[in-house]
Amino acid sequence: MQKKYRHLFFDLDRTLWDFDKSAAETFEDIYNKYKLLERGIKTVEDFHRVYTHHNNILWEEYRHGRIEKKVLSNLRYFLTLQDFDIEDEKLAADLGKDYLEISPRKVNLFPNAISVLNYLSPRYTLHLITNGFSEVQETKLRVSGLGEYFRTVITSEEAGVKKPNPAIFYFALKKADADIDNSLMIGDDFEVDIVGAKNVGIDQVLFDPEQKYQQNGSTFTIRDLAELKGFL
Ligand SMILES: [Mg+2]
Repeated sequence: MQKKYRHLFFDLDRTLWDFDKSAAETFEDIYNKYKLLERGIKTVEDFHRVYTHHNNILWEEYRHGRIEKKVLSNLRYFLTLQDFDIEDEKLAADLGKDYLEISPRKVNLFPNAISVLNYLSPRYTLHLITNGFSEVQETKLRVSGLGEYFRTVITSEEAGVKKPNPAIFYFALKKADADIDNSLMIGDDFEVDIVGAKNVGIDQVLFDPEQKYQQNGSTFTIRDLAELKGFL
């Protein structure tokens, strides 16, 4: 039997916020601003692809607490530039800084995000749990208008650990004054959001717009945020 949910915990990046679209727009800006074509990087797509490779590796290190935020922020650009034979620490630091300033202001939400939040907010208490940098996430919530929908925002920096560590879910439940049995986690990342919530006994909704996961074992799976209205 379906549980009586009262608290909905949303992930932000790639769940409500179209992270990849905002990143692509930001790369376009910084590629032009720093004249990276003249530095030998042929296309913005090449630049973004090489960056994504390094970022994915370094983000895992960051998620496991093995490197600091500032290291992640600069090193991902330093290594990207190196792959194009550019040795420039200053440029890497400038790119790192600009990316964090520009990307949260490129508002791109997934289809139906706002209409679903309007539907859910009078019926449930909404919260956010995010592994993103606190100040970056705050900017996104402010400029997009998403912030007004959430009673509590739990960032990994505040919790001291990142999803899928059970401690961040316990921290979130306490802060939200919610219980395991009346809570539901909604997110796009199978390991981070779904397995993380499942391990503490919280039901989960996997947001899987590209249908990457078959037979994933989550409580619910949706392709479009509007599907939440079907069971909530
Ligand atoms: Mg996510």
